[in-house]
Amino acid sequence: MLDIKIELNPNPKKLPDKNDPLVFGTIFTDHMFIMDYTAEKGWHDARIVPYQPICLEPSAMVFHYGQEMFEGLKAYKSKDGRILLFRPDMNAKRTNRTCEILCMPGIPEEDFVQAIKELVKIDKNWIPTREGTSLYIRPFIIATTPFLGVKPADKYKFIIILSPVGPYYPEGLDPVKIWIEDTYVRAVKGGIGEAKTGGNYAASLRAQMKAHKEGYSQVLWLDGVHRKYIEEVGSMNIFFKINGVVVTPMLNGSILPGITRDSVIRLCWEWGYEVQERLISIDEVYEAHKNGTLEEVFGTGTAAVISPVGKLRWDDHVMVIRDGGIGELSQRLYDNLTGIQLGDLPDTFGWMVEVK
Ligand SMILES: *Cc1c(COP(=O)(O)O)cnc(C)c1O
Repeated sequence: MLDIKIELNPNPKKLPDKNDPLVFGTIFTDHMFIMDYTAEKGWHDARIVPYQPICLEPSAMVFHYGQEMFEGLKAYKSKDGRILLFRPDMNAKRTNRTCEILCMPGIPEEDFVQAIKELVKIDKNWIPTREGTSLYIRPFIIATTPFLGVKPADKYKFIIILSPVGPYYPEGLDPVKIWIEDTYVRAVKGGIGEAKTGGNYAASLRAQMKAHKEGYSQVLWLDGVHRKYIEEVGSMNIFFKINGVVVTPMLNGSILPGITRDSVIRLCWEWGYEVQERLISIDEVYEAHKNGTLEEVFGTGTAAVISPVGKLRWDDHVMVIRDGGIGELSQRLYDNLTGIQLGDLPDTFGWMVEVK
């Protein structure tokens, strides 16, 4: 149990207007959670304070060698006024896995969830309720030791900020166009691809710019060794429905183990689909598209929940999926996941955690 000191913001901001589009990640609430780590004291001084800049030495190790991690989850307000979190224990577990990979100190799962709950409770008026909106929660850890040598730091800060958000992609549930990247790579087996860390995103920007220039909004990564097997979309995991079977790349160490991915697999099992987690080559996808068995393609992630894919471009080949329309399974997954998250559908998996 954390002993969290609370300093309320004496100058609360004006809440966003009901019709504010809430462009993803642009508005922040009145408070933030922060706690410090030193090798001697461990995690200490947990506090909730007014949202504000943080002061770090220019030599803080995070700026130089990128030792940092982050998480992303959402809080929702149900029609009957409950505040709900979606599987926060999974984010806590993944935080500790990422910390292990990056040689950072982990956080006890209960403390991680407690900090989120306390902060969300204080800023609960910021949870938007319009369709497709939620309160995005961004926990992160940074290395703060002032030192220019390369080694794991011995001082860290764990911070949580909150942002009321609308849809992640301006397209909303409209299918996105995806560029399959065959030159640049995001991560390789044995690297840090399964860690939720900024470095993987830094590695993704160049290909993303290339894709944007070609009129595609996202990049689908291929494996770093053969440039042949499908990995993920860089902020989403990817699923294919081929001839009635749901197929997604297995967790191989270079892709992020998505919580939405796990939830989608469980829902598909529940509905009687065969789900295969395995190697899937781009040639197989191309063949399936050619012979008409590629029925659906969609991305999964906290930010967008389900993101149908309408077009894939691989080298000179353009694959249009379902005439660019949303598939039945994609729509059903979106409706059920968001229904459970908003408390409109029964939580039969025990995924939702109420903030009281
Ligand atoms: C966060 C993230 C995902 C999606 O994970 P969720 O837990 O479903 O939000 C997928 N890929 C990468 C690289 C990510 O950082």
